[in-house]
Amino acid sequence: MEALCRMIQEKGKGIGNDIVKVDMFLNHRIDTALLFQMGEAWAEEFRADRPEMVLTVEASGISMAVAAAHALGDIPVVFAKKSATVVQNDSVVQAPVYSFTHKTQNMIRIEKQYLPRGARVLIIDDFLADGQAARGLMNLCEQQGAEVIGVGIAVEKGFQPGGKALRESGVHLKSLAVVDGIVDGNIVLRPEDD
Ligand code: 5GP
Repeated sequence: MEALCRMIQEKGKGIGNDIVKVDMFLNHRIDTALLFQMGEAWAEEFRADRPEMVLTVEASGISMAVAAAHALGDIPVVFAKKSATVVQNDSVVQAPVYSFTHKTQNMIRIEKQYLPRGARVLIIDDFLADGQAARGLMNLCEQQGAEVIGVGIAVEKGFQPGGKALRESGVHLKSLAVVDGIVDGNIVLRPEDD
């Protein structure tokens, strides 16, 4: 997606050789015009698959999930929580997720009532690296008997294996930008249509 790629090139930073810092427009400070254009881009990609809800994980995924859900006709957004809730355990579905950025294993959880059997689910997240977060969300859907119609990502790190593995397993994946590497602090983007 051209506008996102331009913003990454202008304002993104590479940290070390594997962290992409885009928090000045995507996940700390949010450029709302860009956000809603991203929502439209995902909607265009997934509309034909008739998603009924958008699923993400707190916190960074929420704004993007809302933009996509709005563009898809104001369908609901559900986000998995990383901290324990006060509700009874048997009303919650959980899955483990290893965090690439924090190097820790967390449980993510959702109240079962918000992820009904048979629901057609679009998963949205800010980054795809090793694919742990996406797999955790897919795991929740599988446990609940909900159907994942696709996965929409803002920034895929093409030098980590998550995207390739998801595509190979037949998942409809749309990444709006793909980073091929970081060279001397500069982010190298994959040309679009590759
Ligand atoms: P994965 O689960 O695919 O390994 O990693 C995706 C998750 O880790 C995302 O939800 C995102 O929050 C975080 N993440 C992974 N790589 C990066 C990165 O380079 N920059 C930022 N800001 N977050 C990342």
